[in-house]
This record gives sequence, structure tokens and C-alpha cells, in this order.
Amino acid sequence: MKIGSIEILPVLDGVGRENAHEVLSRPGVDDAWSCHSDQLDEHGVLHLDLGGFLVRTGDRVVLVDAGVGTIDNGQYSGGKFLRSLAARGVTPEDVTDVVFTHLHFDHVGWATSKGQVVFPHATYRVHAADWAHFVEAPDAQPGAVRKLGPLRSRLETFDTDVSIAPGLTARHTPGHTPGSTVYIVADGDQRALLLGDVVHSVVELHERDWEAVFDLDPVAARAMRNVIADEVADSADLVVGAHFPGLRFGRVVTASGTRRFQHLV
Ligand SMILES: [Zn+2]
Ligand SMILES: [Zn+2]
Repeated sequence: MKIGSIEILPVLDGVGRENAHEVLSRPGVDDAWSCHSDQLDEHGVLHLDLGGFLVRTGDRVVLVDAGVGTIDNGQYSGGKFLRSLAARGVTPEDVTDVVFTHLHFDHVGWATSKGQVVFPHATYRVHAADWAHFVEAPDAQPGAVRKLGPLRSRLETFDTDVSIAPGLTARHTPGHTPGSTVYIVADGDQRALLLGDVVHSVVELHERDWEAVFDLDPVAARAMRNVIADEVADSADLVVGAHFPGLRFGRVVTASGTRRFQHLV
């Protein structure tokens, strides 16, 4: 996928499985999934692809999120990330920047391994509010501190909407987590938005007011979800969520009064 001269490629790591009815709902709507069974398997399970995105811009090799890592707990499994990168011709040493949409475990799996950074030449970047919440807070989870603590010497946090690299900017979209960030790739009049977990399933772009049990601030997350969906709907913007099928981009279009996410063919 190209936006002008900037290349964006999915980097698959593994898959997660969630009971859709338990994790995503629309308050006030009885069976919000009834018209979306095409997004689920025969058991009502939503498959969440896990991984990240490789963005090549100028002389920079940027990773947006770093998969789930080498876990397999029966529900979430990963392990393919570095092989997927190698298939793109990229070694860990080549990566200049690792930026996180947020610090949930399924986005930071390959940040470090056994206490060592996986991408030895990279600068790691995340919104300051997520670093504070997931790593510095007195009640931070030990697992997150263990995974992310070793990044400290290579970390740059940001607390405004900054330019990360040529054509790549960060936009604060709090709600799912305090520092949730959408990364926008732009060149000329073309834009692509990497939505992270502002949305988990494409259905959250079909209708307003979806809520996820993973949202740390459900009200803010729902409002942000609506803002982003309204902004990109019926525009030329390409969008992808962090867990969309195949990590494939698409557009949000309205046809016959119904809003849909349509994969690029
Ligand atoms: Zn998340
Ligand atoms: Zn996630």
C-alpha cells in the first residue's frame, strides 16, 4: 500500500479470539451483532489479527505497534512478527523507530524480549499518558513494567500531536487508553489512518456508539470512535484498525443510507 511515496505494509504476528457478544456492544441495542454475523465464526467468536505496520518514509523504517510476542495462552497467540518483517526484507537492526498506538499487551509483544530491546537501533515513542498509566503508575501491572521498563533509555514520550517522521504524525485519541494515538500517514492530498484500538472490529465503523470492554474510559472511547468514523466516512481516507482482518486497509462509505467499511480490493 502506498500513500504518495510512503509505503505502509502490514506485519502479522498472530491471532486473538474473543467472544464478540461479551467484548463489543452498543448500549441500548439488544443484539448489536445480529446483523454482523459475517464478521464472526460459527461460534460467535471474533478473530482479531495481531501485529503491526511497517511504514517506510524517506530514510526511516518505522514500526507502528509490535505485535503480541511469543505467547500462546489458547486465546491469544503470536510469534511470527520477525519472520513477517524478514519477508519484507527488514531486519531488527534496520528499524529506526517503533511507535505505539497504546501499551496494551497485544501491541508491545516484540518491544523487548528477555529484558533486551528487540530493535537495537530504534527510538521508541508513545504518548506520555500511556507511559504514565502502564509503566510509572504505582498500580501498574508487573507484566507491563517487565516488558516495557527496558525501553526507558531508548524512549521518547510525546504529549502533543507531533510529527514522527516525514509524512507521519501522531494524533491523541484518548478513551481506549489515556494515551491512545492514531497515526496519520499523509503525502499530497492522500491520507491513511492507523486507528490502533480506537476500533477493534470493522463493525465499529458501520454504526455509532459501540463500546469495548477493553476501553479504560468507555464514554470517552465511544465518543472518540464516533468522531473518527464521522471524519473518515465518505472521504478518500484509507483506514485500518489494529486488529482488522489481514490488517487490510479500506474506506468507510455510505450506500443506501448504510455506512460500511469496504476493504480495498
Ligand atoms: Zn487495546
Ligand atoms: Zn489491541
